[in-house]
Amino acid sequence: MPRITKHTVRDVAERKRMVPADIFISEDAISDMLGHAEKGLAENAEVMGLLAGSVHRDDDGSYVTVSKAVTSGLLSDEVSVKFDHSDMITLFDALDELDFDYVIVGWYHSHLGIGCFMSETDERTHASAFGELGFAIVIDPIKEEMKIFKGSAGGTKEASMVVIEDHTQMA
Ligand SMILES: [Zn+2]
Repeated sequence: MPRITKHTVRDVAERKRMVPADIFISEDAISDMLGHAEKGLAENAEVMGLLAGSVHRDDDGSYVTVSKAVTSGLLSDEVSVKFDHSDMITLFDALDELDFDYVIVGWYHSHLGIGCFMSETDERTHASAFGELGFAIVIDPIKEEMKIFKGSAGGTKEASMVVIEDHTQMA
């Protein structure tokens, strides 16, 4: 599974941004994540998943596009969530079904009513999975909030996001 733990200039497609944002995300991916978070809320559980997309670069630096959000069986409760390792096949199947070349550019998870921020555990998860790169989206379906964070040397920082209607225009 290709991840955005490092990228060389060779791997990064040159394409100019029309608006200055760190991440461009499809409506599809947004509605997948919101639906997932709502479903979790109905079971009083946090949810999580991965963001599949691609990395681009222009004169102002690199940025990512996210086309799909994918997930698998989870072990979760009101305050924590992790992938169910016995059900990772669902995740790999979901990734196999993607009809475009992708890298895993980040992950998402939900908070239940505590607002959107990166907890110490979230920071550790991000650092171990993505290092200083990658994006983390936090959704709170109770407060109806969504925030995006990007990796950096000193931990994650809040980032800017633009929603794109049709992901075929991004790839
Ligand atoms: Zn969290």
